[in-house]
Formats: sequence, C-alpha cells, structure tokens
Amino acid sequence: MTAADTEQFDVVVVGGGPAGSSLSTLVAMRGHRVLLLEKEKFPRYQIGESLLPATVLGTCNLLGVGDELRRAGFTVKRGGSFKWGTNPEPWTLDFVASIPGLQVPEPAYQVERMKFDDLLLRNARRNGVDVRENCTVGGVLRDGDRVTGVRFVDREAQPRTALARYVVDASGNGSRIHQEVSGQRIYSDFFRNIALFGYFRGGKRLPAPYSGNILSAAFKSGWFWYIPLRPDLTSVGAVVSREMADKVRGDREQALRALIAESPLISDFLDGVPRVTEGVYGTIRTRKDYSYSAPSFWRPGMVLVGDAACFVDPVLSSGVHLATYSGLLAARSINAVLAGDVPEATAFDEFESRYRREYGNFYEFLVSFYDRHVDENSYFWSAKKITNHPASDLEAFTSLVGGLTTGEQVATEDGIWQPPAIELGTAAGRYPDWDTDRHIRFDPRHPIFEARQWVPGGVPHQGPRPGGLIPSSDGLQWTVPASQPSAG
Ligand code: FAD
Repeated sequence: MTAADTEQFDVVVVGGGPAGSSLSTLVAMRGHRVLLLEKEKFPRYQIGESLLPATVLGTCNLLGVGDELRRAGFTVKRGGSFKWGTNPEPWTLDFVASIPGLQVPEPAYQVERMKFDDLLLRNARRNGVDVRENCTVGGVLRDGDRVTGVRFVDREAQPRTALARYVVDASGNGSRIHQEVSGQRIYSDFFRNIALFGYFRGGKRLPAPYSGNILSAAFKSGWFWYIPLRPDLTSVGAVVSREMADKVRGDREQALRALIAESPLISDFLDGVPRVTEGVYGTIRTRKDYSYSAPSFWRPGMVLVGDAACFVDPVLSSGVHLATYSGLLAARSINAVLAGDVPEATAFDEFESRYRREYGNFYEFLVSFYDRHVDENSYFWSAKKITNHPASDLEAFTSLVGGLTTGEQVATEDGIWQPPAIELGTAAGRYPDWDTDRHIRFDPRHPIFEARQWVPGGVPHQGPRPGGLIPSSDGLQWTVPASQPSAG
C-alpha cells in the first residue's frame, strides 16, 4: 500500500446507521475532520421503525434535523398500546398526557428506516462529514495498545487505509469489528428470542388520537409488533422465545400466517389485508441473537456505539434511542479529548457509565415487563422502582420507555424542557422477594453488566456522578463541573 492510499482524519466512523451518522455530525459540528465509511448504498433497508421522544425531541434537534423530520410525513406516534399482562383489554400509554411538560403535538414517529437513516446521513454530509458509501471496513490498525485507523475497500474495490485519533465502531449488529475493543459479546441468558417479520398493505388502525401508536400484542407463543408506517403499509413482527423456535422454522409465509392466527387481535387488524410481496418490503425476514452487551465499550483510540456495543429487545422500541444517545455521549467524549479539555480515560468512562446506565434501565425493566402474570400497574411500579423517579408510577413508566430518564434536554412547543432529576438508588437488594427462577435478578455483577464503570451499588441517576463530567452549554462535549478541580 502506498502513501497515496492512506489518508488522515481526526475520526473515522464505521457504519452510517443512526449511531454513526449522529456521532459523526456532532463531532464535525466542532470542526473536526470526520470520515464515515458505509458498506451499503443508501437508502438501504433496516428494521427498527418505532422511535421514542428522546430521539425525536432530543438528539434530532441537537443534530439540526428537527424541522426536516417534522416535514418528512412520517406517521405521528403519540404512544404505545398494549395487549399485555393480565388486563384482558388493551391499554395505552400516552407520552403527552402522562408527562407534564412534554407539550408537543408530535412526540415521536413511526419511520421507514430507509428514509430516516438517509435523512440523518445526508445531514452528516451537510455538516461536513466525508461520507463514503459502498466502502467496507475489514479491520483496524494498531500501534501498541492503541487503535490508530482502519483498513477498508473503497467503491472501486481498492484496498485503502485511513488513520485517525479515534475509530468509532457504529457498524451495528452484524459486523465483527467490535471484537477489537473487548473480545466476544456477552449474550443475555434471559432474552433469547427470535423475530419473524414482514409488511402488509394497510390494516386496521387504533382510534384517534392513537392511530399512529405501536401496538404490542402478547399471545400464547410470544408477542406481536404492529407498526403503522403509512396508510397502505404496516410492519408486523412476531417475537417468540427459543423454546418456540419450531414455530418460525420452515416456510416463512406459512409460519407468519400461523402465528397471526394465534392472536385474535392481530388477526382482526389484518383481516383480508394482503402481505406486500414485492420490493424491499416483500421479504419475510428473521432476526435472532440480538440481546447482548460488549464487555467494555472503549479502548484507547476506539469506541463502540449503537448495536455494535449492545442491544436488549425490541418490545419497547429502545434501539434507535440507544444508538443515537450513545452517539451523542461518545461525540461529547471525543470532542472533549480533541479540545484538550479532559483526559481520555475520564471522558470515555463518562460515556460508558451513562450508556450502560441507560441500557441497564431498559434491560432491568424489560425483565419485569416480560412477566405477563401481572397487570400494567405493576409495570408502572417497576419503572418507578428502577428509576427512583420522583413522580407517579405512570409518569415513571412513560418517562423510562420514552427514553426521558437520561436527564437530557428535549425541545417542546414552549422551548427547552429538562426532565426532573431522579436517582438510580441502590441496585442490589431492591427486590428481596423476587422469584429468581423466573427472572434474572438485576445484579450489577451479572456478566452482561459487569464492566468498567457500571454503576456500583447505585449513584445519582443523572447529572454529574461523583467525580464525573457534565455536558457543555452547547451539548457537544463534556466539561468538568465548576465545583471540581480541573481534570486536565
Ligand atoms: P445499524 O442501523 O445496524 O447501522 C449500522 C450500519 O453499519 C449499516 O448501515 C451497515 O451497512 C454498516 N456496516 C456494517 N458493517 C460495516 C462495515 N464493515 N463497513 C462499513 N459499514 C458497515 N429499534 C427501535 O428504535 N425501534 C424498533 O421498533 C425496533 N425494532 C426492532 C426489531 C427487531 C426484530 C430488532 C432485532 C431490532 C429492533 N430495533 C428497534 C433495534 C434497531 O434495529 C437497532 O438498535 C438500530 O438499527 C441500531 O442502529 P445502529 O446505527 O447502531 O446500527
């Protein structure tokens, strides 16, 4: 390889999904040279269509795409409706009605990911990121313990290298580059589900104002998602446990039809509605092995964001939130170090600690949510226990599943709104009478949580950890709180 095949950047990002495009935009906004390498040509298909208020009202506004998102014509999602737990009737969570202060007509959207991801990637380009599609990263370059760049094949199939102060792995679930940071992923032994999903030409909608809600419907073999993407397009997926794997084997069309027949609610909503059989939505797809965490999220010169680092389970639609939120957190760490304001270990421990805390909140809550022998009030109570939220059980639940317990600001009709301060409390021993045969007890020493800086025994849930950092006023980097001595 000649010198001409090697280029130099401040940051190289692998993958142009929501995690990669968010991070690269927020680093480029600080004037740094960012290369983003994406193996596909966008727009490309991806699952994960139901967004949360934290992404729509928080990160997307920071990225400067709030208005573009509102004009894009995506289905407005006011909340989620559930046929879940012992309540025989479906029940609804409403982000606007349940969270005082969140006064917005469009708190979230259901998106075709081809369009949403393309919007974010174009925004990265507009902000100065050197976005190159059809470029596949094959591995990283190292100098001693430090990652210093990547090897990739460009769109003309030529091998190339790019050197950088930081390499960001935002390559999602399927690539192996994450192993460079911490070896093998730790898979959850609680969430071991399989998803089978396709698209239908319409279908029934819930009554207004909830016609854009995601509908999550439990049935004997598992649960369904039913996401209204357009009047003539509905995303429908069945999630079953490993023990039910036989139900998704063989002919996928037959398997999906048989599972739909098991759910009276989904059967009714899809009565007489044909499945899409052509184009990108014409394929019935499966996904499994998606609940895991990397043992650690960074090493010198390299950081993991989005699905490259961890994912829990689709039932509460947390994936794009975790991807964009981790992109924001890691961008703050990179910007702080490149500015010379914070030492590397301090900056990236802040990223990892906050990211694990949010991932852990969803993980812990989902364990109790998968217990379908209780009613919704019990889920609301669990959310309050897990987050130690100061308000009602219902507000705690809605805040948690809206991604709004991170303490990050969001944009409302009246301006900027800051969720109330809450505390994580002490993790160990909070559920003395839990049935550990049915649940894995939430334990920071469980391998999926065991990593650097996982909140040991409970720390303040937002704002500075003891000795921790806070966001700068523009939200783009970490700074040392005024009361602490300079970390530099
Ligand atoms: P991705 O979106 O996977 O993007 C990674 C990018 O990296 C891709 O474009 C890929 O082409 C590129 N890439 C990969 N390897 C390389 C390489 N070597 N070189 C260059 N580029 C590379 N989330 C929600 O928020 N709502 C939902 O309703 C939801 N439903 C889900 C249902 C299921 C069944 C599953 C499994 C997940 C669901 N998710 C959902 C999660 C969501 O899909 C992911 O969390 C989200 O897409 C992660 O974004 P990302 O940017 O980390 O990765």
